[in-house]
Amino acid sequence: MESFDVIVCGSGPAGLSAGLAAASHGASVLILDRDCVIGRKLCATGNGRCNFSNTLHPLKFMAEFGRNGRFMIDALRAAPREFFLDLLLQEGIRPKVEDDVHYFPMNGRASDVRDAFLHAAKKAGAETRSSSGVRRVLAENGAVSGVETESGDVIRASHVILACGGTAAPALGGTASGLELAKSLGHGVREPVAALAPVHVDDPWLSELAGVTVPDAELGVAVGTRRVSMRGSLLFTHTGFSGPAALNLSGTVNRALSGGKPAQIFLRVLPDKKEQDLFDYLVAERENVPDHLLKNSLARIMPRSLASLVCERLFGEDFHSKRLTNAGAHELAHLLDRIPFTVSKPASMDEAMAMDGGVLLKEVDPRTMESRLVKGVHFAGEILDLTGPTGGFNIQFALSSGRLAGLAAAGAL
Ligand SMILES: Cc1cc2nc3c(=O)[nH]c(=O)nc-3n(C[C@H](O)[C@H](O)[C@H](O)COP(=O)(O)OP(=O)(O)OC[C@H]3O[C@@H](n4cnc5c(N)ncnc54)[C@H](O)[C@@H]3O)c2cc1C
Repeated sequence: MESFDVIVCGSGPAGLSAGLAAASHGASVLILDRDCVIGRKLCATGNGRCNFSNTLHPLKFMAEFGRNGRFMIDALRAAPREFFLDLLLQEGIRPKVEDDVHYFPMNGRASDVRDAFLHAAKKAGAETRSSSGVRRVLAENGAVSGVETESGDVIRASHVILACGGTAAPALGGTASGLELAKSLGHGVREPVAALAPVHVDDPWLSELAGVTVPDAELGVAVGTRRVSMRGSLLFTHTGFSGPAALNLSGTVNRALSGGKPAQIFLRVLPDKKEQDLFDYLVAERENVPDHLLKNSLARIMPRSLASLVCERLFGEDFHSKRLTNAGAHELAHLLDRIPFTVSKPASMDEAMAMDGGVLLKEVDPRTMESRLVKGVHFAGEILDLTGPTGGFNIQFALSSGRLAGLAAAGAL
């Protein structure tokens, strides 16, 4: 029977990073993936360009993952961004920073990032096998003893790293398989919902704006008594919203929808202006340019098509500023401050770039990524209940948590 020190389930960024770390510290390592392509999803990231990290300070980086972000503090210390930048350089990949924030490979090829990690892991001695899914994690007396593959082979190991990713983007290998393995070991899982996905609204008039971009908008959702909102660029689509503000809010919206009731979301197209500022602007326009169409006044501070649509819906076509009453100005300012929409249909996993949900963090030791329930089992990457926004957060977390898990599994901490 085959035997390794460490078996890594999954060859995404978390699995490759884990395998590389463990093999570099002398462990015999086998990386298994159920897909026939190693790191398939990684090759499709960032529109094929792979936004693998960003320039944020670690404290700010963690904060972007929400209140559980501090879970990754040890992972970021053990495996900071600089470590991976050096590694890529050693593998001949020059990183570049776009918008002063986002790291991409200079040549714009995500597959080269995958190749770099794969090459480094193999050079360190790790063996990889594609089309080799793990069906069962074997445990005896509270400690892991190996895995059983989908073809029925049993392979022994004293450490098994579950880096199986999540359910997002099934066409790229997203699957619940890792979550099922975790559950079979007794782990709790927060049920996955689609994250980093478009938001579909019930209001059909919005489709008239498809293709319009607002460079800085705020999209929010009421969750019980809390309001969660995201700010950033927003794209109107035929069915609702996309762009960073919508993608980053979608996990919260879809989670709210999992209660079975529609969610109320709101859009602020001028997030730096208060309702009173908007009222003052409208009144000033009425006084200064009374013969101008109101929609032209609005088009000076927001996208023209949105300005026209809002004015027409409230006041009809060709409405001049001089006809605006104070009550009308209040109504318009109130609407612009918070345009409401209803969402009753969650985005599907096919549309999602990540899942919100995963293995409960309280059951995993953040210093080693080891299970608190089964000795020798470690978790890394998206399988964990920690999801970041768009912009290189999720791959960096996968790499860092993978490395920490690999170091711990190899006894190198
Ligand atoms: C289209 C798209 C674009 C994205 N762009 C970016 C981006 O630019 N920047 C960014 O930070 N994030 C991006 N992401 C998110 C990012 O891809 C994930 O966060 C990241 O891949 C997670 O890494 P992982 O190693 O945890 O999981 P994955 O990359 O999903 O890898 C998990 C692997 O485990 C394998 N597996 C599953 N179950 C088993 C099993 N039972 N046995 C063996 N193998 C198994 C799978 O086949 C898969 O290869 C994007 C996602 C998508 C879908």
